Amino acid sequence: MNLKDYIASIPDYPKEGVIFRDISPLMGDGEAYREATKQIVDYAKEKEIDMIVGPEARGFIIGCPVAYELGVGFAPARKKGKLPRETIEVDYGLEYGEATLTLHKDAIKPGQRVLICDDLLATGGTIAATIELIEKLGGVVAGCAFLVELTDLNGREKIKGYDILTLMDF
Ligand code: AMP
Repeated sequence: MNLKDYIASIPDYPKEGVIFRDISPLMGDGEAYREATKQIVDYAKEKEIDMIVGPEARGFIIGCPVAYELGVGFAPARKKGKLPRETIEVDYGLEYGEATLTLHKDAIKPGQRVLICDDLLATGGTIAATIELIEKLGGVVAGCAFLVELTDLNGREKIKGYDILTLMDF
């Protein structure tokens, strides 16, 4: 199975010049969704992962089945104002302006080994902010797994030194 067949490419969405890589056909196909999950689980198996963290919102879609398969917990990293208890926050740059990503303070215990899961690595801003949150809580980022990498945007540069798995390049 070629997983790339399950990524829809939409030119000029959400704005001119951007090609949106839509993972919903992959999620919508039981076999493809399971295959992508399996590839991430196989990568994670050797890493003694204690927790999965997924950034809002597509990180939940990738991270939760991986956590379930590994038998570990999942912690959502969410935009400011969405988590109901005490949080830590990190500001990060977006294409237009700034955003704040948060994690519950008790989401990760010091020393826990964390795998971050998200749909897509673009500029790397979101993953860098997620890493910062986890490390603020004393967690160890053991890996970062994505379905798709947009290689032209060089997001890898932003997270140099961290272990990265991407299943497809565009
Ligand atoms: P970034 O912080 O730049 O690495 O991008 C973070 C998130 O933005 C990704 O996890 C995607 O959910 C979304 N994103 C950015 N660029 C695209 C794109 N071309 N197609 C689909 N999603 C994108």
